[in-house]
Amino acid sequence: MNKIIKLVSVFMIIGSSYSIAKEVNLFTSRHYDSDVELYKKFTVKTGIKVNVVSGKAKALEKRLLSEGKSSRADVYITVDAGALGSAKAKGIFQRINSKTLNSKIPANFRTAHWYGVAKRARIIYYNPKLISASEAKSLNYEDLSNPKYKNSVVIRASSNTYNKSLVASLIANNGSGKTSSWAKGIVNNMARDPKGNDRAQIMAVAAGKAKLAVANSYYIALMLSGKKGPEQQAAAKKVKPVFPNQNNRGTHMNISGGGVTKYAPNKANAIKFLEFLLTKEAQQHIVNNTYEYPMISGVKPNKLIGQFGTSFKQDTKTKVSTYYKNQKKALALMKKAGWK
Ligand code: FE
Repeated sequence: MNKIIKLVSVFMIIGSSYSIAKEVNLFTSRHYDSDVELYKKFTVKTGIKVNVVSGKAKALEKRLLSEGKSSRADVYITVDAGALGSAKAKGIFQRINSKTLNSKIPANFRTAHWYGVAKRARIIYYNPKLISASEAKSLNYEDLSNPKYKNSVVIRASSNTYNKSLVASLIANNGSGKTSSWAKGIVNNMARDPKGNDRAQIMAVAAGKAKLAVANSYYIALMLSGKKGPEQQAAAKKVKPVFPNQNNRGTHMNISGGGVTKYAPNKANAIKFLEFLLTKEAQQHIVNNTYEYPMISGVKPNKLIGQFGTSFKQDTKTKVSTYYKNQKKALALMKKAGWK
């Protein structure tokens, strides 16, 4: 009898250590149902189960910090290089050295601690009834402060992380002084006080309440897909996207990405998981469901976004890791300019 109990407990120990080795705990601020299907593919391929904890970036960051060494998290995934930089600054990630990740991801979209998985552009949308295509196509971000666009611009609040990253990149390229004047100019040009999300800005331009909106690239595709309802789908058809700064440094790019957490109990699986996200199969799945741009070459974006052009000039000179560094400055100068 005793022997049987011993034998059973030995099997239980083997069983439990086996299950520990065959899982990866993912903390993610991405909230796509399609991601779950992607993780299933990873499990089928590797036998590693993916346990998902999802939540808002700030809440997950807080939880990771408060759990510290006892956290089960292996991988943390979020959007915006500013949010990734924030997590890095707080010591949430550990350095990893993956030849696969380093060779697949261009240097400006990764650091030693976190890695870009997909790209998005923060672009300008215009109403073709109010602005000509030729005028729109020559737009730079810098032009949004031109007095000729008084009462013409809609953009969300200064506290929004996408805006903080955009302004951070302007600081990196034009300096704080010029960017402060630019922020004042854009506040003067606002057609209304900032309100709503990126899609709300596109809706305002579609309705003729403004000529120009700033919003991320994938939102037009999401609206066109019909997943956000017929009203947004119809609105999306009334606007056109333009990729700014084509005659100089290129369009402002940002990323979704992630890294291995500092106290990851399943570090090897975590690296495998990140490497999986950069495979052709995973990249295709991601871009087809989120309408982001792929990180690796040889994968096409979904046609709902690809139809607007895939060969636009991207700003690949400004490292996305500078966004976090400049975000505080960016917010301060926007607030000082009266940007709500
Ligand atoms: Fe978004």
